[in-house]
Amino acid sequence: MRFDELTMHKRLKEAMAHLNYTEMTEVQAQTIPYALIGRDLAVASKTGSGKTLAYLLPLMHRLLTSRALSTRGPRALILAPTRELAKQVYAQLRFLVAGTQIHCSLVLGGENFNDQIKALRKTPQVLVATPGRLVNHLQARSFLFDGVEILVLDEADRMLDLGFADALKQIHTAASHRLRQTWLFSATLHHQAVEMLSGYILKAPQTISIGEMHAVHADIKEVFHLCDHLDHKRALLQHLLSQPDYQQAIVFVATRDDTDKLAAQYNEQKIPALALSGDMKQNQRNQVIDQFSRGHAKVLFTTDVAARGLDLLHVSLVVNFDMPKLPEEYIHRIGRTGRAGNQGTAVSLISPKDWNSFQGLLALQRREVIFSIIEGLEGKFKGVLAPQKKRFSGKEQHPLSAAKNAQAKRKVNKSSSKPGAGMKKGTGRNAEAFVRDTDGFAPLRRKAPTEASYIETDSGNEPE
Ligand code: ADP
Ligand code: MG
Repeated sequence: MRFDELTMHKRLKEAMAHLNYTEMTEVQAQTIPYALIGRDLAVASKTGSGKTLAYLLPLMHRLLTSRALSTRGPRALILAPTRELAKQVYAQLRFLVAGTQIHCSLVLGGENFNDQIKALRKTPQVLVATPGRLVNHLQARSFLFDGVEILVLDEADRMLDLGFADALKQIHTAASHRLRQTWLFSATLHHQAVEMLSGYILKAPQTISIGEMHAVHADIKEVFHLCDHLDHKRALLQHLLSQPDYQQAIVFVATRDDTDKLAAQYNEQKIPALALSGDMKQNQRNQVIDQFSRGHAKVLFTTDVAARGLDLLHVSLVVNFDMPKLPEEYIHRIGRTGRAGNQGTAVSLISPKDWNSFQGLLALQRREVIFSIIEGLEGKFKGVLAPQKKRFSGKEQHPLSAAKNAQAKRKVNKSSSKPGAGMKKGTGRNAEAFVRDTDGFAPLRRKAPTEASYIETDSGNEPE
């Protein structure tokens, strides 16, 4: 579907034509018509699919074509999980409001509160904000929420993962009235907290879910290398970053320390590199992102802080120097490349330490991968083989009785005078696993790392 087929304000169509965007992306084609007729929305679609315009265009259309319910406060609020993401949304919004009477403002954590109050007194019609700071303004009564006609939650799953559930509810309550439209965007709707929030704040929403959130872009080529240890990873990275065929690269590492060390090392080698991590001051982070997006550096070393949302068109290589703890994060990381139809490559380095995270990813995506080898950089690690599954054919002893026998044997062994006599290490455990297997299901998997442990490495990403 084309933008010019929509019943949408002329100025917005012109803006799209100006960008040379003629065809809508799938999420835009499915979302915008419902948004324009006044519906609430719950939308899931992969990163880089064009969600920002999917809400900014109908939002702008409503503001340009209808009278404000109240002129004393903003008409639309857009909430985003991180400052970086909010700034990118704001940049796209600024482009759309240019030349109109609509005035917008950005309200971010980590920036001067009083300056924000001053800006809010000018009653901007649209606010783009991080939730924590917006709640501070709610408490300080910096502006009136009761005229809000559109509330957008961008990357709702991420906001909830970062602990903003209460903030979102407070904002919803303060701006709750019959005529409000609420649009929730998320990488997935199969997320318990997202489901709960949707039930709480959306009114008869149109649900749009495009593709499996676990599916990877066709535009991203994924490569996996097995590695023995840190030095082996470093050698592989050196090889990857010395290739001439990428524009810019983002390298994800586990710790903030490593971002600095690696960036320094590559700068010495005349491969311009920058480091971005959560504990940097806000203006430093802005500077780094700005420099990188202007192409002042070839490589950005970062922790998960930059994994979401950032829209950097020239990134054609993403390297997972360390695998993310949560498999979902992998999808977001590699989504930093292959933006807007460009081709990208995502390379993951899997050492014994990364093996469990890697297995989690395979389980999530229900797939297998073939490992690639770089000549001269082969390693010894071949992965940890899963234990062979036994099947009960009916001829041998039934597994349940086998387990019982094993248990009985253990008891005998325990009571035997020589401790451990005749006992093979792990016999009992294997027998139990075997029993669980006979119901036709795989044995229970180990639990994924907890959210708390994941957020810890990423805490600097949390707006205040
Ligand atoms: P998401 O929020 O789904 O991750 P974005 O809204 O950041 O994705 O969009 C990704 C990129 O695609 C942006 O650079 C955006 O300008 C571009 N884009 C969006 N809509 C279109 C379109 N209809 N045609 C071409 N490019 C588009
Ligand atoms: Mg987005």
